Amino acid sequence: MGRRPKLGQHFLRDRAVRARIAEAAVESGDTALEIGPGQGALTKHLVRRANRVVALEIDPVLAAALRSACGAPPNLLVVRGDVIEADLAGLVAPAHRSRAVLVGNLPYYITSPILRAAFAAKKAFRRATFLMQREVAERAVACGGKRFGLLSCLCQLHSEPRLLFRVPSRAFSPPPAVESALVRFELRSGCPPTGLLAFLRACLAAPRKTLRNNLAGRYPSGLVAMHANAGKRAQQIGLDGLMRMWESLEKAEPSGPAAVGADRE
Ligand code: SAM
Repeated sequence: MGRRPKLGQHFLRDRAVRARIAEAAVESGDTALEIGPGQGALTKHLVRRANRVVALEIDPVLAAALRSACGAPPNLLVVRGDVIEADLAGLVAPAHRSRAVLVGNLPYYITSPILRAAFAAKKAFRRATFLMQREVAERAVACGGKRFGLLSCLCQLHSEPRLLFRVPSRAFSPPPAVESALVRFELRSGCPPTGLLAFLRACLAAPRKTLRNNLAGRYPSGLVAMHANAGKRAQQIGLDGLMRMWESLEKAEPSGPAAVGADRE
């Protein structure tokens, strides 16, 4: 079967790693939606653990061969499609949603869009467990410091992410140029409050600038300067600190950003 490098096809060869991922991702009774099953390296473990597995693969050749590669188990449904365009929640029957999880050894070139799609579909899933580039995994879980950024905020607003273990390149064939790590996202219900994401984006627009500078123009002059963290950078106070700052600025100036013409979302 010809490999398509543009689709991020690095197949997991290490049996022990595959088993550990399936164990971390799925409990018995779960419905698992696997993103990018490829040749079925992980799928074979998932069908043994889960009640039902829906496997979403973009490559038509791999998708056509997947059922028989896995021994045609009755609890496997293969869907040919693009994860970015698919209705992820719609792939899980409403009756199974309370026990539905997302899992995948991701195509790394679209990790961020997949995370956004997973968060957008979180009403249907309780958890997502993804193998991704190690650096991205570290950004997802960072509470501060040089890896902390908008991706950290998004991941932590929508879930409780935990980096479970690293996976070396030699566990894949062909080996990717980067190291990998498994992250489990326990998805939170509810959405971030209106306006918060726009505030976070502004705080992180120039990561080396202080919050006072990044927020210039969003609130009346002087208001931000009065805040205890105004002279710090976003990475120094992390998501909790930024959220507290947003709440106190909004309380002091509920119509602040709109009043000075900045967009709120
Ligand atoms: N799960 C397999 C494994 O662990 O060996 C394959 C993982 S490989 C890193 C990523 C898989 O995602 C490939 O099979 C690739 O064809 C598939 N893929 C790439 N882009 C995709 C997309 N947009 N939608 C769905 N699957 C995609």
